[in-house]
Amino acid sequence: MSTTERNINFIEQIIEKDLAANTHQGRVHTRFPPEPNGYLHIGHAKSICLNFGLAEKYNGKCNLRFDDTNPEKEEQEYVEAIKRDVHWLGFEWHGEALYASSYFDTLYQWAVYLIDQELAYVDEQNAEQIRISRGSLTEPGEESPFRSRNKEENLALFEKMRAGEFAEGAAVLRAKIDMSHPNMCMRDPILYRIRKQSHHQTGDKWCIYPGYDFAHGQEDAIEGITHSFCTLEFAVNRPLYDWFIEHLPVPCKPRQYEFAPLNLSYTVTSKRKLKQLVDEGIVDGWDDPRLPTLSGLRRRGVPPHAIRQFCEMIGVTKSEGVVDVSMLEYSIRETLNKEAPRAMAVLNPLKVVITNMPEDQQEMLQAQVHPQDEGMGFRRLPFTREVFIDKADFVEVKPNKKWKRLFLGGEVRLRNGYVIRCNEVLKDEQGNIQQLNCTYDPETLGKDPSDRKVKGVIHWVDAASSCPAEVRLYDRLFSDETPDAHKERPFTHFINDQSLTIIYPARVEANLAKALPEKAYQFEREGYFCLDEKMTQQKGHLVFNRTIALRDSWQKLTTGEK
Ligand code: ATP
Ligand code: MG
Repeated sequence: MSTTERNINFIEQIIEKDLAANTHQGRVHTRFPPEPNGYLHIGHAKSICLNFGLAEKYNGKCNLRFDDTNPEKEEQEYVEAIKRDVHWLGFEWHGEALYASSYFDTLYQWAVYLIDQELAYVDEQNAEQIRISRGSLTEPGEESPFRSRNKEENLALFEKMRAGEFAEGAAVLRAKIDMSHPNMCMRDPILYRIRKQSHHQTGDKWCIYPGYDFAHGQEDAIEGITHSFCTLEFAVNRPLYDWFIEHLPVPCKPRQYEFAPLNLSYTVTSKRKLKQLVDEGIVDGWDDPRLPTLSGLRRRGVPPHAIRQFCEMIGVTKSEGVVDVSMLEYSIRETLNKEAPRAMAVLNPLKVVITNMPEDQQEMLQAQVHPQDEGMGFRRLPFTREVFIDKADFVEVKPNKKWKRLFLGGEVRLRNGYVIRCNEVLKDEQGNIQQLNCTYDPETLGKDPSDRKVKGVIHWVDAASSCPAEVRLYDRLFSDETPDAHKERPFTHFINDQSLTIIYPARVEANLAKALPEKAYQFEREGYFCLDEKMTQQKGHLVFNRTIALRDSWQKLTTGEK
């Protein structure tokens, strides 16, 4: 079969060609290289699924490598969170987790090697001078006055940099390539900077740190990576990546390929911006259920395979675009509709007294855990004289023919239970409805009354056995489709102030007292919800997060669909 017939993506085509030509002795070795300066987000999931997915598909290996060359912004907390998230998505890295910082000795030796080859020099211009002398896209750069230093002098100065004898910013090591190269990346890029900072892995061993370009390709080479995938913005760095691989005594020659990053509508996926939301207290930590972080999605009840399915759906291409967030929502709904256990919860409880039921009577009703999957078993629903229904399911006067729910003098079926009739409405002094007095028809369990049809079915919970619960309804965090694409306003300007609605106390069926955290249940007619363990402990009552509404109400609003 040809590759086009099998419909494989451009990266798979590259790999299959390499395998056919035995380019890397038949090996496929990829890596996922996060910088531990924040939590992983949905964009990273695309890269994880790509790298780990290719290793799985082609019987190869995928490393997890922390690209920890910048000691300023990195923390151990992020390292742990990243490992947890990769595992959660269902992937296992090859061997131990790796750290770019453990190659610092080799990278240092390779820097010395370049000096020795007269391909690197110590520049004592300051950052501003270096910036200006790089030129622009239309003008060539100017050579540094320190560029022609001899190699002995460079070796001695670089050793001084390493020994901490220069102040921060007083000197850098640069590659000697071409100051008038059309690609700005090739105009004597900086290899090492002085940073008098402790590092979370290497402590105080180093006060000089390699830059991204000098580190990344060499790390790939040290690890025997065959295909190094990164997002499109690194395409300009590729000639430099190749230059290092060509000029250094590396043990393997990896190749870099670029793919389009994931951009999602109504979402920001930049660690820096997510960190700002966290630091400014706009959200409740990195795992706030409104964030597109993997820990946020998990806390919201999104199953990992829904994210993998989404990544499969969007595919991998070379052209950048914005993916509609409703595609992610669709994957979540589809997955949960198939597998979420059903339960009943009443968000705005209205008390109903079943007047023809004796006070001490309790009947045990049964309901399927999943309507299409008997294998998921049954659950028990106590039914007593007092139940709660949702305020929205009752009106005193039937407004029109379409109204199938309860009204004074009308009938409705309680889901998984009996048909009830409303005979009386009790109100407080202000006229607010306090209670409904109803009667139930004992002949109607699982079947319609013999002489009439009852079309409406509403959800309910038993008053005595149900539990009070807090329900947190989340909406999109941003009200704008591209919150970080506006030059005149910061992305925080577009925060949706309706992104969180807290309802308390709602009532949930007793079975939900044993709900598993991070596991979504369908609250019938309301949406998918999962227990928030952290909040439940903090607040001392059950707290549920809405994972997603049943239908795409947003779509309805924007398209005017009914
Ligand atoms: P951010 O822009 O959020 O700060 P980053 O690129 O700095 O992300 P890294 O930790 O360097 O974050 O990313 C690790 C890997 O994930 C890189 O290979 C990067 O290309 C990839 N990646 C990051 N964001 C996306 C995205 N939106 N879509 C696809 N891949 C991404
Ligand atoms: Mg990066």
